[in-house]
Amino acid sequence: MVTRHTWINHGRLLTSCPCDAILAVTSHLIRCPECGTIISPIQPPGGQLGEAWRILERRPVVNQNWTPTLEAAALNGTLEVETLDDLRLENKEHI
Ligand SMILES: [Zn+2]
Repeated sequence: MVTRHTWINHGRLLTSCPCDAILAVTSHLIRCPECGTIISPIQPPGGQLGEAWRILERRPVVNQNWTPTLEAAALNGTLEVETLDDLRLENKEHI
């Protein structure tokens, strides 16, 4: 079993497998359909995920994106980590 950080893309909570498959996080343990690895997804700490959903649900699904940690940024190839305040500011600027 491996632990992997998570992020939100197009309204879905995702993680990735060491084999590079991108996986939807549907439970506390998920099995990679590509290679069979069991993955324990690491969710953002301190209830941030619930608050992130509340902020993002005001956006179109295509804009419901959040990379909460450097580890997640490394996995999903983005260069930018966003705080919840960043998400709130984006809402103010675009909604
Ligand atoms: Zn895999």
